Amino acid sequence: MSNLFRKLPKLDILMKDTKLEECREKLNYNTFYSLVKETIDSFRENIKNGKIIDFEIDDIIDEIVKKSKFAGVNRLKKVINGSGVIIHTNLGRSVLNKKALEMLVEVAGNYNNLEYDLETGKRGHRNSHVEELICKVTGAKGALVVNNNAAAVIICLNEFAKGKNSIVSRGELVEIGGSFRIPDIMELSGSKLKEVGTTNKTKTSDYEKAIDEETALILKVHRSNFKIMGFTDEVENSEIARIGKENNILTMEDLGSGVLVDFSKYGVVKEPTVQESIASGIDIVTISGDKLLGGPQCGIILAEPHLIDRLKKNQYLRAFRVDKFVLSTLESTLKLYLDEREAVREIPTLRMITENVGEVLKRAEKLHGLLKEKGIESQIIETRAKIGGGSMPEETVPSYALAFEGDPVQLERYFRTGDVNIVGRVQDNNFILDLKTIRDEDMATIVEKAIDK
Ligand SMILES: *Cc1c(COP(=O)(O)O)cnc(C)c1O
Repeated sequence: MSNLFRKLPKLDILMKDTKLEECREKLNYNTFYSLVKETIDSFRENIKNGKIIDFEIDDIIDEIVKKSKFAGVNRLKKVINGSGVIIHTNLGRSVLNKKALEMLVEVAGNYNNLEYDLETGKRGHRNSHVEELICKVTGAKGALVVNNNAAAVIICLNEFAKGKNSIVSRGELVEIGGSFRIPDIMELSGSKLKEVGTTNKTKTSDYEKAIDEETALILKVHRSNFKIMGFTDEVENSEIARIGKENNILTMEDLGSGVLVDFSKYGVVKEPTVQESIASGIDIVTISGDKLLGGPQCGIILAEPHLIDRLKKNQYLRAFRVDKFVLSTLESTLKLYLDEREAVREIPTLRMITENVGEVLKRAEKLHGLLKEKGIESQIIETRAKIGGGSMPEETVPSYALAFEGDPVQLERYFRTGDVNIVGRVQDNNFILDLKTIRDEDMATIVEKAIDK
């Protein structure tokens, strides 16, 4: 082993090796230095733990050359989604629409009126650009945008229920991916959780019995990522709203995904819409911006103006406020909702959910043909694409995929890693790319990657 350690090249000498000339020229000094050092270090580590029993200097050089292809490339980058999960939290949730992207470039690349009232020439409020629009499309009377829905829930509980009780049904004490757990969120906000009912059944009387002087609000939580079936009961929003009004306490719903469109019109399972929640009389409704709404990451709080005014003075808002990227892309996205047909056509998340399966088949045939031209065999198969995103996670829509021949585990890894990253999935021992989430403009890249295989 000590012989092997002695065989390791000195950093400064290896950096001058002629075989690394191309790398040296391509990368800046610091990147090149780190790359060579990290590679020597990793060889040393592998000698120590016995993974390397012999090596040549050229092995180290080859490794450096291989890694240099990715050095200097941004770590956060485009991925082609062939997983068939439309709202994939790990892949960045919703893809923004074209108008939003145009406005993002204009607003972010220039000075803008983020907190400036162009009429009065005085300081304005960043929320003002979207509040009216949100009210128009949801039917709410007031609105506030924060960093995400988790932040929306925390700031509301903190403002309206700090030091007091919030009543939640035992059937709604959910955990949403990425460690959003209602009991923990409650604690963070300073409100005390008062559980009522049972896992499968919660009744009006359960809520009513739990109300006392310590009660600040009743919280309903959307069961985003699981279902309870069979012998179940829950209290409708309008009934919750009635209990709240009668007892002079606030009612709130964490609706999770913000659906503004009635999906049943498009043959997809109906989700409760934001408009319905507002109309039910619930005082405060919170939603995510990047799930079914199809916009940027943010949380939207919908409530009466006097409640919104209180939130605007809450200290958390300074920490949870959104930036110009979010406000500008949210405004562009919401504007599309003024005409539902436009929203469904232009917002990628909505388009993918509602599009006819025949369109997906056309894309599958197109990609199949392009691959075939290059001598690459694949098979068109029927699949179900998931809506996903902790919103309608188990709901699926019909789709088509291409199944490839070969070891599915190796193929999955090959497509996922490297310069160009294509995420598919393994199904029935085949590697498949689901066309639901693949766009025409991605096809040339997929074919190129498949050829290199
Ligand atoms: C997704 C979700 C959240 C978290 O929303 P983020 O915008 O990711 O912070 C909270 N509650 C419910 C019910 C959800 O579905």
